[in-house]
Amino acid sequence: MRSKSVAPVPRRPSPSPARSRPAPENGGSTDSCRVRVAVRVRPKNSEELAHDADFDSCVELQPESKRLKLKKNNWSCESYKFDEVFSENASQKRVYEVVAKPVVESVLEGYNGTVMAYGQTGTGKTYTVGRLGKHDPSERGIMVRALEHIISSMSFETDRVAISYLQLYLESVQDLLAPEKTNIPIVEDAKTGEVSLPGAAIVEIKDLEHVFQLLQIGEANRHASNTKMNTESSRSHAILIIHLQRSSRIKEENSCSLSNDTHDIFPDDLPLVLKSKLLIVDLAGSERIDKSGSEGHMIEEAKFINLSLTSLGKCINALAENSPHIPTRDSKLTRILRDSFGGTARTSLVVTIGPSSRHYSETSSTILFGQRAMKVVNTIKLKEEVDYENLYKKMEREVDQLTSEMERQQKLIKSEKILVDKKLKETERSFHDLRVTSSMQIENLEKEKCQLESAVQKLMQDLEEEKCQKNLLSEQIIGLEKLLSENKQQQQLENLSKTKILTDTTKEHEKEMGELLRQLEEERCCSSSMKDHMSILQQQLCDAQSSAQLQETMARDLEKKLTKVTEEFTSQVQSLKQTISELISEKEVIYEELKSTQEKVQQEIWQRQDLEDQILRLKQTTSDNYAEESKTSCGMVRSGLGNAAFVSKSGKLRETGTISKIFEEVGLPNVLALLKSEDLDVQIHAVKVVANLAAEDINQERIVEEGGLDALLSLLETSENTTIHRVTAGAIANLAMNGLNQGVIMSKGGARLLANVASKTDDPQTLRMVAGGIANLCGNEKLHLMLKQDGGIKALLGMFRSGHADVIAQIARGIANFAKCESRVISQGHRKGRSLLIEEGVLTWMVANSTRFSASTRRHIELAFCHLAQNDGNTCDIIASGGIKELLRISRESPREDARNLAKKALDSNPAFLKEVQ
Ligand code: ADP
Ligand code: MG
Repeated sequence: MRSKSVAPVPRRPSPSPARSRPAPENGGSTDSCRVRVAVRVRPKNSEELAHDADFDSCVELQPESKRLKLKKNNWSCESYKFDEVFSENASQKRVYEVVAKPVVESVLEGYNGTVMAYGQTGTGKTYTVGRLGKHDPSERGIMVRALEHIISSMSFETDRVAISYLQLYLESVQDLLAPEKTNIPIVEDAKTGEVSLPGAAIVEIKDLEHVFQLLQIGEANRHASNTKMNTESSRSHAILIIHLQRSSRIKEENSCSLSNDTHDIFPDDLPLVLKSKLLIVDLAGSERIDKSGSEGHMIEEAKFINLSLTSLGKCINALAENSPHIPTRDSKLTRILRDSFGGTARTSLVVTIGPSSRHYSETSSTILFGQRAMKVVNTIKLKEEVDYENLYKKMEREVDQLTSEMERQQKLIKSEKILVDKKLKETERSFHDLRVTSSMQIENLEKEKCQLESAVQKLMQDLEEEKCQKNLLSEQIIGLEKLLSENKQQQQLENLSKTKILTDTTKEHEKEMGELLRQLEEERCCSSSMKDHMSILQQQLCDAQSSAQLQETMARDLEKKLTKVTEEFTSQVQSLKQTISELISEKEVIYEELKSTQEKVQQEIWQRQDLEDQILRLKQTTSDNYAEESKTSCGMVRSGLGNAAFVSKSGKLRETGTISKIFEEVGLPNVLALLKSEDLDVQIHAVKVVANLAAEDINQERIVEEGGLDALLSLLETSENTTIHRVTAGAIANLAMNGLNQGVIMSKGGARLLANVASKTDDPQTLRMVAGGIANLCGNEKLHLMLKQDGGIKALLGMFRSGHADVIAQIARGIANFAKCESRVISQGHRKGRSLLIEEGVLTWMVANSTRFSASTRRHIELAFCHLAQNDGNTCDIIASGGIKELLRISRESPREDARNLAKKALDSNPAFLKEVQ
């Protein structure tokens, strides 16, 4: 029996039938076993909220320093330090973790523990300790949480947990789990001093659901008992005892420290258990200490309640003051809690207080109780017992095993004995048999001996007779030997002569043998060389065979290839034959076509010759007129839009008439075909005819439809001849008079080709034609952008360099056309922004050259200027180029009324112009 303690000096020696181990270090704190005390303030209840509105709370918490300030009045307050202070907002979980968890962990390690709530009625003791919170885990109090913790930490296979739930009321212990048990005695072990309540029910816990069930039963019984006895729960103490038994898994590493006698009592392999107890106590309301009795009723009750609590207070005072006498025996409560204060248990106390200053004195006395309890030091001890029950079971098992082994051995011996007996009997029997047979054998042997003796005698007689006979024979032998020696001598003589003959014959034979051997040797040599030769021949044969095989396979391959090639060749030949036959038929078709084409060509040649004849005739009749025309040049008959560019001037009426006649006779396709003639003269005349035809409105579309435009454009592009250029440009200009043709001309690159011709020549007539053509295209607003992109406008302005009035007149007409159409498009809202003409520099050109224009040209320019001025997008450019002056001039001086009106309109409606004018 040993016990080790943690506290400096054990106050009361507590003999234990178990061996003890030191308590685990607890953060090295020296007061690790001091009773730990926390204070919890209840939130204000509705009554306090209603009535104490004017009063301050009498307590103030300082959680950082774990202090509580208790205010007596405005000028007096005390501050107390606790192990923890919980405000009204502290959760049940935190209270459990700080107050009870360390104790529960200690209990799980094998130490006893106590958690207790002390305080005035209504301050939250039951809330803190006994709240079930079955459906809301956050509400659960210390009892439920402790059991939950224990269940989750133990193993149901090796450990057991059980509870007793008791009520102490009027110094009587009642069982809350078995209410019929009242006045349960408290028993103290004389040797160990351990307190127990053997009369109380101990119910083993299965799971948490079971815990709830039991605590609910306890609660119901407490309520029923209090109703029966006409009291309240606040006047009784509720005590939950949790009994925990765990098998000790700690192998005694420190067993060497045990004394020898301990070893004798507890061998190392004994099953050990740790038995510990946790007491959770919900005390009766502490206010009775001061107030009961003064109210003059229920004296007995008050006395007993006072007795237990007063006694507890006294014990704690005594312990706090280190008094040698602790009055634990004065009340049942102090007897039950004997181990909790100054004993071997780890103890935590939570003191509960209300915030109201109306209960200042109760609160103060509760706090002082807590402060005193903090001074109590316990000596915690681990009790490890031999698990006799387990040991007994183990022993029983071993005895069973030994008994069964013994029985087995006995059975074995019995069966062996039977076997030996059996063998013995068999041996005896065989021995008897042996004796009988041996006596019989002896008798037989005796008989045999007699028979043998008589036989020996007979044999002796026979021997004697034989001896006589032998002597007789010896004499006969000597006689015979003599005869034999004589015979021998004779024989020797004969032998000598025979030997000589034999030797001679042998020698001859040897000679013959030698000869034969030599021959044999030769034969052998011959045969070996033959063999070599044979092997060589064989090798050659092998080689020849393998090469023959190789050649055979090659031959087969070649044969295959040959077959394949032959097949391919045959198929190729066939396909070639096919192709040839196709080609032949094609050739026939082509030949047919060629024939018909030749016929057509022949016809065309004839037609052409006819045509050329006609043209020659024509040429002769018109040669005079053309001579004149080349001098005075082609010209504009009328000015303005849509004029024919190229028309023979002097002989117009006559000419057109003739040409129309020719045209009717020859047909347009034939005339157009002549445009491609290799004879330049014919080509020039053909172009002229086409140009004249193009001057007529009725021909313009047809010429284009019949491919005339394509032929003219191609001439313009390919020909180097200036006349061709001039007349072709005129023809195109005439075709461009037709609105439908304008788009076609543009799309076929007409503007680009005209611009190209303009850039290459200085001939004023050619330039006039080109300018006229572009001027006609300027009258189509849909083509403006394309015209600009194809370089038409630039070319138009560029032709001003010629200085020729006719050319400039066409340029002015073009610009006026362009500006007018553009102004219309912009005013209709189809386009916006700056004029394309201005982008090409037209404004500067017009302002710079205004003095160089002839009167008719100037009118075109003025109109163009006025149209440009109508577009707001051009305002800035007009102002920048000094165009305002020009506008003003036009508005006043222009001979054309429409120009004057347009200029005025632009000046009046454009605020920027107005501003400039002012
Ligand atoms: P006691 O057991 O000390 O007489 P109770 O535990 O019965 O006091 O508590 C009295 C009332 O105050 C109960 O209604 C309880 O729910 C409530 N109460 C006590 N403490 C708290 C708390 N910390 N938070 C909320 N309500 C509390
Ligand atoms: Mg209560």
